[in-house]
Amino acid sequence: MINIKNSREIEFLRKSAQIVAESLLLAQSRIQPGVRTIDLDKEISEYIRSKGARPAFRDFHGYPANICVSINDQVVHGIPGPRVLREGDIVSVDIGVELNGYYGDAARTFAVGKVSSEKEKLVRVTRESLYKGIEAAREGNRLYDISYAIQTHVESAGFSVVRDLVGHGIGKQMHEEPQIPNYGKADRGPRLKAGMVFAIEPMVNMGEYKVYTQDDQWTVVTRDGLPSAHFEHDVVITKNGAEILSLAASEEI
Ligand code: MG
Repeated sequence: MINIKNSREIEFLRKSAQIVAESLLLAQSRIQPGVRTIDLDKEISEYIRSKGARPAFRDFHGYPANICVSINDQVVHGIPGPRVLREGDIVSVDIGVELNGYYGDAARTFAVGKVSSEKEKLVRVTRESLYKGIEAAREGNRLYDISYAIQTHVESAGFSVVRDLVGHGIGKQMHEEPQIPNYGKADRGPRLKAGMVFAIEPMVNMGEYKVYTQDDQWTVVTRDGLPSAHFEHDVVITKNGAEILSLAASEEI
């Protein structure tokens, strides 16, 4: 069942998502060659706690860090550690927050210094595909209209969408129904209704879509070793389209 949130719940979700948005801006301001990913983790978790919230990924299914930092061929769930960011890397930062029992979850891929034009294109297309998905997230549409919009945009650019990982509903649980694949046929799935809150999150590979999980049991990497990018927003379906909850006040779409 897909939960419909009331306006009070949406306000709580907005607060959590706003802390995530500000945390991503903090990450953006810190990302440069020479930075260790564990130091990003530490600073962002301190920021989240300074807001009275909790880094929600910590201990989620046993996850051993506060945020996920995934570099180049790492798709998602990269565990922060001593690895240092290098010029030309792309780095995906995924952050979850819980405040007052409500969750926020968003991600973004950043360029470290100057990156190749192919990586730049991958990041741009992935970001655009998220916004295509968000445009399709409107009352009266059906769930896989979102999936179709994302897949179509990605594949027309020559990239592929990861199949094994999907977006999700979000609320008092970080992962609620429905699962939101980033591929699918239009005009299929449940009807979208105002008050549904989704974390839409295309994960896009430069090469083939296949991925696997490394021996640390977390880090998902591309099978062909080519780079991957990831953008995620929390959105609420309203009577007039989707509203993005995880966009900071200072940001433009
Ligand atoms: Mg998510």
